[in-house]
Amino acid sequence: MTIQTLIDELAATLGPAGVLVGDEVSSRGAGIWRTDKIAAPVIFRPATTTEVAAILRACHAAGQPVVTHGGLTGLVEGAVARPSEVVLSTERLNKIEAVNAIDRTMCVQSGVRLQAAQEAAAEQGLLLGLDLGARGSCTIGGNIATNAGGNQVIRYGMARDAVLGLEAVLADGTVLTSMNAMLKNNAGYDLKQLFIGSEGTLGVITRVLLRLRPACRSQDTAIVACESFAQVTGLLASLDVSLAGTLTAFELLWRDFYRLVAGDAPPLAENFPYYVLVEAMGGSPDTDRQRFVAALAEASEQGLIADAAVCKSVAERQKLWAMRDNVEKTLEQKPAIIFDVSLPLSKMEAYVAAVMAGLDEAFGDHSTWVFGHAGDGNLHFVVAPGEALDPAVRERAERAVYEPLQAIGGSISGEHGIGLEKKRWLPLSRSEEEIALMRRLKLALDPNGILNPGRIIDAVSGS
Ligand code: FAD
Repeated sequence: MTIQTLIDELAATLGPAGVLVGDEVSSRGAGIWRTDKIAAPVIFRPATTTEVAAILRACHAAGQPVVTHGGLTGLVEGAVARPSEVVLSTERLNKIEAVNAIDRTMCVQSGVRLQAAQEAAAEQGLLLGLDLGARGSCTIGGNIATNAGGNQVIRYGMARDAVLGLEAVLADGTVLTSMNAMLKNNAGYDLKQLFIGSEGTLGVITRVLLRLRPACRSQDTAIVACESFAQVTGLLASLDVSLAGTLTAFELLWRDFYRLVAGDAPPLAENFPYYVLVEAMGGSPDTDRQRFVAALAEASEQGLIADAAVCKSVAERQKLWAMRDNVEKTLEQKPAIIFDVSLPLSKMEAYVAAVMAGLDEAFGDHSTWVFGHAGDGNLHFVVAPGEALDPAVRERAERAVYEPLQAIGGSISGEHGIGLEKKRWLPLSRSEEEIALMRRLKLALDPNGILNPGRIIDAVSGS
């Protein structure tokens, strides 16, 4: 069957709003921070789970590869479609179906934007414990498919921890409805886990039952400068104890990144090697504030703080977060590669030094910025090698960042996933047996290999 026959067949089921071709496809960007356009010949835009099932049934029968699109904010080329692939976009699966304040749950379709879900929870005095800089564009389905992390993992966990149940459509069109609403359910295999973090390779997520938490009434934020990495790890340990479970963010900025994003009126002088954005959230504004200030004072007495500024207003807090989230600033001047790795905190200082030495050796004139969710052992590097980003240059940069991870048990992906971009490096973080089992799962759930083919792993070893 040709793609055109498939389009004609599905147009009858999906109607005009459900099928985009021609300019309506090729004028769309292939992803955030990308300059290329969507190369697939068609975008299917189902509005119901039944329509998703119809698309996949037809593609499965035709052996037609399908790439799922959420908000296209993913950073590992997972959703970048080739001309031989068709796109299934969740953009019309955008309804918030219910918020249950007693059960503290929210039921959403997978194309709902993260920010819309956060706002719907807040309207009921509840909180969705998932937040990332791409909140306005990324979708809940994409967040779950990538098991997104973000800014509050230290308190609420990754996307996985916010999912109680989900509905997914398998490659052959089978609808798997597993909309569990309980925290506890040990009735056999927990099948939802198959779809969380598998980057759309095992099924298309259509609906999700999210776990909500009580909304916080206080949000105290500070920026802290440290003279050494030992101070940074000491600060984390100290605040974790003194803030008694309310520490919600611990974001670390190395000096060069801080200097780049701090702007004309930096909150602290720019001569310290490390800066930490610290945030605590709680239920009692006055006492929470006192505790927050006391926790910082105690850390200071312990010799863990070189300088600090506590936010006095919502505007100050927003400015600090805008600074931390301004990753785009690193991409303004030169072509650059974004890395996302994780590793034990105890190895972080030596690891960053090893990466910098490797980059210095590989590139005479690179600019590299380091920052990340250090409280979770998750770091980002943005490397501008000072040369055009051809495959050989990429490989040299990737080698410098990824290879030192193997000996220390780190991961080539803390939160962004593998996609197409990191596939060749997967054996640094996963054993042969683990990758073989991934292949068996893929083959069992998607025997014709139509769902996001070639992302994470090749279906057949070495293919
Ligand atoms: P897309 O980019 O559309 O897709 C990502 C992958 O998921 C693709 O493989 C796609 O095929 C698959 N997919 C999408 N929807 C579905 C579905 N319904 N069913 C099955 N598969 C699906 N990531 C973090 O983890 N933490 C961060 O802090 C973070 N910060 C970011 C900040 C910025 C400014 C940007 C641009 C990105 C950031 N990211 C971060 C990366 C990105 O936002 C996340 O990976 C996000 O979860 C992707 O969601 P999306 O809807 O855009 O998915």
